[in-house]
Amino acid sequence: MKLQQDRKSHETKSKSPVSKNTTATPSSPGRQKPEELVPSRYAVRVGEIEVLVVSDGVLPLPTAMLAHNAVPAERAAWLSDMFLPPDAFDWALNVVLVRSGAQTILIDAGLGSDPDLHLPRAGQTVKRLEAAGIDLSSVTDLVLTHMHMDHIGGLLVDGVKEQLHPDLRIHVSAAEVKFWESPDFSHTSMPPGFPDALRATAKRFMKEYHSQLRTFEEEHEVAKGVIVRRTGGHTPGHSVVRVADGGEALTFAGDAVFAVGFDQPDWYNGFEHDPEEAAHVRTRLLRELAASGDLLVATHLPFPSVGRVAIDGDAFRWVPVFWDY
Ligand SMILES: [Zn+2]
Repeated sequence: MKLQQDRKSHETKSKSPVSKNTTATPSSPGRQKPEELVPSRYAVRVGEIEVLVVSDGVLPLPTAMLAHNAVPAERAAWLSDMFLPPDAFDWALNVVLVRSGAQTILIDAGLGSDPDLHLPRAGQTVKRLEAAGIDLSSVTDLVLTHMHMDHIGGLLVDGVKEQLHPDLRIHVSAAEVKFWESPDFSHTSMPPGFPDALRATAKRFMKEYHSQLRTFEEEHEVAKGVIVRRTGGHTPGHSVVRVADGGEALTFAGDAVFAVGFDQPDWYNGFEHDPEEAAHVRTRLLRELAASGDLLVATHLPFPSVGRVAIDGDAFRWVPVFWDY
């Protein structure tokens, strides 16, 4: 409450910069009101390649979505162990911007806005890219890990397509495009309204952007040191992106890994269209990352979602990096 009062009085003061109060205390002149109280971007360097994790916001979702094949009491115990509320919690939603050579690559685009789903705290990507000084028209390539609404919806916000470069290349696996022609939701477990919203968003995306798609089968080098690779599982065309340079590497895992996936890699997430395969993909990827020591960033890991994977008995352990700032 104190903070809000302070901010309000500052807003009132800063409304008329021309008649700036010259008798202000030494600490207040020139003090800018912060755009947001919590930082929404975090930069990492991988060799010569710049990686910026940007938060699209958070999605409050029912906790049953974490593990629809788990015994409810075990799921409740995990939430309790993590100091998380029992019924619904905020899933992080991250996108990544990569600069390699002359290319600027955006990986996924956040949720955008769907008035029917009441998720107003997400959909911040464009605003936050702007706040980071990144002009949408400077993006040369867009990589989509998959075509769920929380990864493509940002491209459908009014005015965004017009700001994007007309020659923007959109890389997505051919299997993903094919899947959304007639998507199967029979193995998912989503809140009401979600399957229809996901279908409609993918359809709209294809209508708006089909001429810019550059599909790949299994693997594609988007830029020097930036390789997208299809994993399947979460969706048949789900892909991950590995950034590697100068002996360092970082993998953006999209929706192959969730926060609960370290302790319980076999728990089925409600958004997985082939949950059994998704669990295999997750375990394989976590083993690879544990062996290599590469950095991991994933869409729904808590912001800034930069860490490494350790093996812990039959499970894995998330080891966040110490913030470097
Ligand atoms: Zn997602």
